[in-house]
Amino acid sequence: MVKRVAVIGAGASGLTAIKCCLDEGLEPTCFEKTDDIGGLWRFKDEPEDGRASIYKSVVINTSKEMMCFSDFPAPDDFPNFMHNSRIMEYFRMYAEKFNLLKYIHNKTAVCSIEKTWDFPTTGQWIVTTEREGNQDIAIFDAVLICTGHHSFPNLPLSSFPGIEQFKGQNLHSREYKRPDNFKGKRVLVIGIGNSGGDIAVELSRTAEKVFLSTRRGAWVTHRVSKNGYPRDISNLSRFQNLISKTLPSSVTNYLIESALNNRFNHCNYGLLPQHRFNGQHPTVNDELPNRIISGYVQIRPNVKEFTSTDVIFEDGTVEKNIDAVIFATGYSISFPFCDKSVLQVNNNKVCLYKYMFPYHLEMYTLAVVGLIQPIGAIMPISELQCRLATRVFKGLVKLPDKEAMAFDIGKKKFKIDNRYVPSQRHTIQVDYVEYMDELATVLGVKPDLLRLFTTDPRLGFQVLFGPCTPYQFRLMGPGKWSGARNAIMTQWNRIIMPTKTRTLKISTQDAYFPRMLLVGAVMIILAIFMFHF
Ligand code: FAD
Ligand code: NAP
Repeated sequence: MVKRVAVIGAGASGLTAIKCCLDEGLEPTCFEKTDDIGGLWRFKDEPEDGRASIYKSVVINTSKEMMCFSDFPAPDDFPNFMHNSRIMEYFRMYAEKFNLLKYIHNKTAVCSIEKTWDFPTTGQWIVTTEREGNQDIAIFDAVLICTGHHSFPNLPLSSFPGIEQFKGQNLHSREYKRPDNFKGKRVLVIGIGNSGGDIAVELSRTAEKVFLSTRRGAWVTHRVSKNGYPRDISNLSRFQNLISKTLPSSVTNYLIESALNNRFNHCNYGLLPQHRFNGQHPTVNDELPNRIISGYVQIRPNVKEFTSTDVIFEDGTVEKNIDAVIFATGYSISFPFCDKSVLQVNNNKVCLYKYMFPYHLEMYTLAVVGLIQPIGAIMPISELQCRLATRVFKGLVKLPDKEAMAFDIGKKKFKIDNRYVPSQRHTIQVDYVEYMDELATVLGVKPDLLRLFTTDPRLGFQVLFGPCTPYQFRLMGPGKWSGARNAIMTQWNRIIMPTKTRTLKISTQDAYFPRMLLVGAVMIILAIFMFHF
């Protein structure tokens, strides 16, 4: 019987892994190689080996109601898009509320995990850890790997001829911390993912000139959406998901691309890609068009080669006297503590059932958590993965046979290959609502809309038409939370509160006017209806 679970890493995924183990009556021991929790979101001035590293200014691009854990809404007054320090505050509150810290062994790195000799019958693992130079070995019944996938830089220097003779500064985005060192310099940023976009915009306020090079362009979307609501609040509802799955993808793409081009024409701004909107992980940046139109950032094509001081682009243009090159070229997936026979990574691809379980193992006592690149937030997905994994470990949820799992993996790979442009960043893509529902179905916590509409129509309405917030997965089934309904019914207050900081008195007359218009419109429609029939 599974009892002792090793959790590797105390970032967002590791914290929720500990909690989910406790909820299922398991005994977690979490090993964290650094001296604190928070993983990627804990800013430090120097990057640490094996831990993701962020720049000082990072603001998350998934909103607080969509990124919180399902039974722990972020406080009302927290901004919708939080600075990394605010996210850390939220994680610390979560750890404190559920008393998670006592299960974490800080400064303890997992060096290896290996199957025990009798693994086929026990499913147990030998976990070797190291703390301050001393090694320790312990046996665990199960393992949750929560080490993230933004720690190992993808630095494709061989694709950039001449880089070895380039005399200026040359760094990966994980080493970029603040704009101060680039004051008055001419900087080239390579890659237009979210790191490249953010860094180019930030640098453009202090550097002399910033060139942002992209090999295929990008559709640039924004945090602030319709009526000023957060983008994911407006876009990630069950209803929208249903519509976009029903419409042909060419139509959905057309509608989104038209809206984005209405904001600024991607062709005129040098950003227009060859692929459709849905073919690439979204670049979210509210400020980039402003910096381009003001001439502070110039979009450029792929780099052909470097000389000792200059950069030559594929269109033949040259920029002289470049002082620094920042490679915002993404990350590689790696599990250095795990044998290839357990987890194998090929071209950033890993063969896992539901992106979690190495399906070839004799026993399903190991799961990878957070190894997804969602259109949406990672945290609630990691949480649902942990809820599923812990119940699989306990034998309460049975995984299908190996053939069915292999088929599912193949199907997902096929879908990704068909939708996304080939790139090493597009190997673990998931759509938030669809993937959450998929996990929830296996776990038995997917909200039953018919039941909700018949027993609690107001809630049903919010669940179908409102944002698909994580609380929806706490309404029923194992792990049900009594606060879930209230969290859903009050979510709009928490969204509005941090921006509505100057309370306005709307005069009765102003409030009446739109209502009168609505009543008028309804009466006209009724009149037309009666006239015709
Ligand atoms: P991490 O936060 O990377 O934590 C992993 C932990 O494991 C670390 O503490 C590390 O020290 C520890 N560890 C690693 N190896 C070992 C070992 N061998 N032994 C012991 N401990 C180990 N996601 C979103 O959902 N929304 C966003 O807006 C968003 N913005 C991002 C911005 C940037 C700049 C980057 C790079 C990523 C962003 N992400 C975002 C993705 C981000 O990875 C997740 O938000 C989240 O941090 C994942 O949490 P995690 O716990 O899985 O991994
Ligand atoms: P990324 O999403 O993997 O983007 C890497 C970029 O580099 C892509 O534009 C890619 O182009 C390009 N690239 C890779 N190899 C290249 C090569 N050989 N030549 C030219 N271009 C190359 O990495 P990221 O931007 O660091 O983002 C990592 C994760 O962090 C993502 O999940 C992102 O959303 C998140 N993030 C979030 C925020 C935020 O919330 N504010 C900020 C930063 C990052 P192709 O598309 O052509 O492969």
